[in-house]
Amino acid sequence: GAALPAGAPAPVPARHQFSDPAEVEALRGNLLAWYDRCKRDLPWRTLAATEADADRRGYAVWVSEIMLQQTQVATVIDYYNRWMQKWPTLQALAQASLEEVNELWAGLGYYSRGKRLQEAARKVVSELAGHMPRTAEDLQKLLPGVGRYTAGAIASIAYGQATGVVDGNVIRVMCRLRCIGADASSPAVIDRLWDMANALVDRSRPGDFNQALMELGATVCVPKAPLCGECPVKQHCQVWRRKLFGKPIPVPDVEDCGVGDCPLCPPATEPWDSSLGVTNFPRKAAKKQPRVMRTATCVLGRRGSCGTPEYLIVQRPSSGLLAGLWEFPSLPLSQDLQEKEEREVLADHLQAWMGQPVTAKGLRFIGEVTHIFSHIHQTYVVYSLPLDGDVTLAPASSPSRWVTEEEFHASAVSTAMKKVLK
Ligand code: SF4
Repeated sequence: GAALPAGAPAPVPARHQFSDPAEVEALRGNLLAWYDRCKRDLPWRTLAATEADADRRGYAVWVSEIMLQQTQVATVIDYYNRWMQKWPTLQALAQASLEEVNELWAGLGYYSRGKRLQEAARKVVSELAGHMPRTAEDLQKLLPGVGRYTAGAIASIAYGQATGVVDGNVIRVMCRLRCIGADASSPAVIDRLWDMANALVDRSRPGDFNQALMELGATVCVPKAPLCGECPVKQHCQVWRRKLFGKPIPVPDVEDCGVGDCPLCPPATEPWDSSLGVTNFPRKAAKKQPRVMRTATCVLGRRGSCGTPEYLIVQRPSSGLLAGLWEFPSLPLSQDLQEKEEREVLADHLQAWMGQPVTAKGLRFIGEVTHIFSHIHQTYVVYSLPLDGDVTLAPASSPSRWVTEEEFHASAVSTAMKKVLK
C-alpha cells in the first residue's frame, strides 16, 4: 500500500472503531430506546428537558455536572434542588456571598467546586452579558473550571450540540464495546476514545445519547460484574459477541488485529486473562513491581570536641533518587554478594572517603533496615565503624560533614537514614 507520511498515526484497525454506519445507527437506536425505558428521573434532566430559557437551561446542567464530579447521584439530588431553588439563575448565583455558597455546599465535599462555580457565574454575568456559551469549545475556553468533559456535557445536554463526552463510565463501556485493551489512562488512548465518542454520538439526541452511555456504564456495564445479559447494546459489543465472557479462548487471540503492535490491543506481554471475560477491559496501567535493592551503609562515629558522639554524613548527587539528601556513606550492592564480599566492597568504599586503609574486619555488623520508597524495596545492610583519636578525612569529591545526633535530625536526611541511625 501507499506509504504513510512520516509521523502520521498508524491507521486504527476496524475492530476498534465504529466504522459501519448501519451498525452505528442500530447502536444509537438500541441505546436510546433503553434509555427512554429505564432512565432515572433526575431533577436536572427534567430542567434540561423543560426549561425554555437557554441560559437558565445551560446553567441548570452546569450546576448538576459540577456537583456530580466526585459525588454520587443519590447525594447530589437534595443539594441540587436546594441550590436551584435558592439561585435559579446565573444572576442570582453571581450575587450570592461565598459564605452562603459554602453553607449550602456543606457536606458535599470538595468545597472549591462551589466557589469556582460562583466565580464563573460572576464572569458570565459581568463579561458575557449573562449569556452561557453554546458550544463545547467556547464553554471550555470561557468558563473557569469547565474542562473538556463538562463542556461536552453542557453543550450536548443543554444545547443539542452533537459532541461526545468521555468520563470513567464511557471509558469502560467503549473499551469493552471495542476490545480496547491498551492502557486506558494513557493520553493516546484517551484521545482515541474522544474521537470515538464524537463519532458515535447520536446526531439528533446528543444529550440523551451521552447520558445514556454514562447511565449504561453506571448501571449495567459496571466495573466488576457487568449485566451483559440485560445489556441493550450487547450485539454491538465486541467482547460480548465473541463470547469471551466466561469461555476461555486461546491466548493470544490470533483474531486480534492481526498486527503485532496494535496501539489499542492489550500489549503482547500482558494478554488478557480469559477467566476475567469482559472485565479485562478497560485495562489499567500495570503496577510496576517494586525494584529490590540492597545497599551497604556505614555509620562512622567519632568523639567530638566535648565528647559527644558525631557521625559522618555525605551528600547524594544532585540528581536521581533522593537527590541532594544527606546519608551515611552508602554503596549499592549487587544481589549476589556473600556477606564477606559485602564487607570488602564497603571497606574499599569507605577508604575512598577516609583516605586511609579500612579493614573489612573492623566493620561491625549492626543489622538490616528495610525501607519502601514508592517503587523501590530497599534493604540497608548497616555497619558501624567507631574511629579513635583525631581523624582527618581526605577531601572527598562530594560534600561531607560530621554531625551530632541532633544536627543529624535537623539535616536533610531521608526517613530511611533516620531508621538506620536508630
Ligand atoms: Fe458492557 Fe457487557 Fe454490554 Fe458489552 S455486553 S457493553 S461488556 S454490559
